[in-house]
Amino acid sequence: MAMPTYAMSCFKLPVKLCKDIHAIMARFWWREENGKRKVHWCSWKKMAKGKHSGGLGFKDLQGFNKALLGKQIWRLLTCPNLLMSKVMKAKYYPHGSPLSCEVKGNSSWIWKSMMGAREEARRGARKKIEAGQILKIPISLTGRPDCYFWSHSENGQYTVKSAYETITREKKLLELNGKVKGETSWEGRSGKVWKQLWKMKIKHKQKLLVWKILHQALPCREAHHKRTGKCDIICKICGKNSETVEHIFFHCKQAQMIWRMAPLQWDGLKEHTADFRRWWTMLMEVQTQKEGREHINLTVDILWQIWKARNAAEFDGKDTHPMEVIRKAIKDWEKYHQSQQIQHQLSISETETVQDEEERMGENDYLLNMSVEVGQHVEGQNMGIGVATQNNWNQKCETWILNERSTGSAVQDNLLAIKLALYKLKEKGWQHIKIRTPCIQVLNIIRYQAFSNLKLATHLEDIKDLCSMFRKCSFDRLPGDKDRLGAKLSRLAILLL
Ligand SMILES: [Zn+2]
Repeated sequence: MAMPTYAMSCFKLPVKLCKDIHAIMARFWWREENGKRKVHWCSWKKMAKGKHSGGLGFKDLQGFNKALLGKQIWRLLTCPNLLMSKVMKAKYYPHGSPLSCEVKGNSSWIWKSMMGAREEARRGARKKIEAGQILKIPISLTGRPDCYFWSHSENGQYTVKSAYETITREKKLLELNGKVKGETSWEGRSGKVWKQLWKMKIKHKQKLLVWKILHQALPCREAHHKRTGKCDIICKICGKNSETVEHIFFHCKQAQMIWRMAPLQWDGLKEHTADFRRWWTMLMEVQTQKEGREHINLTVDILWQIWKARNAAEFDGKDTHPMEVIRKAIKDWEKYHQSQQIQHQLSISETETVQDEEERMGENDYLLNMSVEVGQHVEGQNMGIGVATQNNWNQKCETWILNERSTGSAVQDNLLAIKLALYKLKEKGWQHIKIRTPCIQVLNIIRYQAFSNLKLATHLEDIKDLCSMFRKCSFDRLPGDKDRLGAKLSRLAILLL
């Protein structure tokens, strides 16, 4: 059946007309008998579903219409030099973008039709954002025109098919949730957002902060006012605007200075700062880019520090310099980033979603080799303990040095050192470890539980208990080459006091 494709790509069909066409098509399909309608055995919605999802592949005309109109908008965005784009720009958005300009009541039908599909186009259009541009050059100065890609197709090109599929999918989601368009529509689509959030490698308290913001549950003045009718809604820091979440994190004078000083810039996200949820959703898109995750993590550290600084000002009257906020965020990020690189394993207590990585890596990849060495006694008083860790690809991980009172016995000192190292690893959340010691006597005592006195027995008992707290824990002999990091560290440790 031929559909009025050409007309639809220029004009938004009135809803009523779409319904009529639906009816005609449905009737055609089920045939009318003697002018009487036969029972329509299944609903239009079912028929309109794609063939692969049990429907008949009839197109949902309104959706199809929008997808076609979206293509026109797309053309305006990506081909600004076409005559039609120039005409439209001059007429309707001389200084703006077709995605955000105001639509006046007296605009032409064509324009209003196109603008009727704008929301869908806007949701799928992405400006190319370099993940965390370090250079603070505004994009307009680099001479590059804004570059758009379509997020619903693989090659980034707008296709009516991909737009149509997205529109019908979103519609379905809305119906499933039984919710109307508007604020709640975000919740209908937000499953992915939560999944991503809990998976992120950031601190738990930071996840909760983002979670609260997204749920509009963060206590800001405006929200408080809405709920209680009390409290002054004007931001205490700038004294200018009402304090919303967006104000705190983006628009307040303080926040703006902080972002300007940040080592990463999200120029492409600026237009979304009026709505934190939207901003966040867009931010998550760079996850897949090179270093995208690290940039997102730093961004969360900045959000966290902005929030902390705001609270310090609100409750303690303490001003934090924007540079200090950034310095703290970077420090947090570096610390956490390092520990994450080393620890391919997350501490299970913090989040339950390490599966992805576990699936990718074999169990042995998680193995942490730890060599524990004890340095020379200094007159039998102190010992230096050097602990060096290495993952299974022989990459050096963390090292620790410790200065401890010596027991006076080399074997006991080594056992004590192993005990302390086990504590440390447990605290760090490792689960699969191998401890290596250069001392064959110690190794035998542990392996064969061959102790000769009560003191040793006590140490052994502790070690056994500690070992049982790991998923896997084994012991091995450290080869006796001279260049051992642990030995060097233990000598260094002696110098500590
Ligand atoms: Zn403010």
